[in-house]
Amino acid sequence: MSSNFVIDPPAVISVPVTGDTRRFAVNRIYCVGRNYADHAREMGHDPDREPPFFFMKPASAIVTDGKNMDFPSLSNDVHHEIEMVVAIGKGGANISADKALEHVYGYGVGLDMTRRDLQGEAKKMGRPWDTGKAFDQSAPCGEITPVGQCGHPAKGSVKLLVNGEVRQEGDLNQLIWNVPDTIAYLSTLFTLEPGDLIYSGTPAGVGPVKKGDVLEGSVDGLPNLKTKII
Ligand code: MN
Repeated sequence: MSSNFVIDPPAVISVPVTGDTRRFAVNRIYCVGRNYADHAREMGHDPDREPPFFFMKPASAIVTDGKNMDFPSLSNDVHHEIEMVVAIGKGGANISADKALEHVYGYGVGLDMTRRDLQGEAKKMGRPWDTGKAFDQSAPCGEITPVGQCGHPAKGSVKLLVNGEVRQEGDLNQLIWNVPDTIAYLSTLFTLEPGDLIYSGTPAGVGPVKKGDVLEGSVDGLPNLKTKII
């Protein structure tokens, strides 16, 4: 078969959409670091002195549709970070906070899985975080629920159960940068595009996972995310 490409083009990465047979195609994944004060403190930082910041994962790191996540290579300390995911439907640069929510297609539940040992080493050496944060299958993500069905969640529980026990719990109203502020600031650094996901940060309680663990994440008003570490 003839083709315009010298190798097969990569598959479109996508996540399911609540109440729709069509899917949300994923472009880039931006993550906000230390966006809950209690989590900043548990990582040894002072949230009053350091504003949140961003890092990225490739779209190919998505694990979705209830699939299992393989325990990653070269780490003995893989942590869970439960987060609300913001799905961008309309792109833009220098978006003002008061217009930011117009750019949101919907919301979901995600896990910013982290090789904490490799991240710690990178921090110590002043190196990039990619090996700690952007590895294969590091971004489990549940269904994206359109704004028309869930509104714009600004308060409500963000919770992670591991094998049925609560490990992380916080409230969206504890975000240091709320969703409009995050979009506004991020869009001054990068031109946002449709399909971009923003992992909005994790509440306190991060900790290690092991093979066999079942992770069930929830954000009030959104469908749960479930994955098993294998
Ligand atoms: Mn995170």
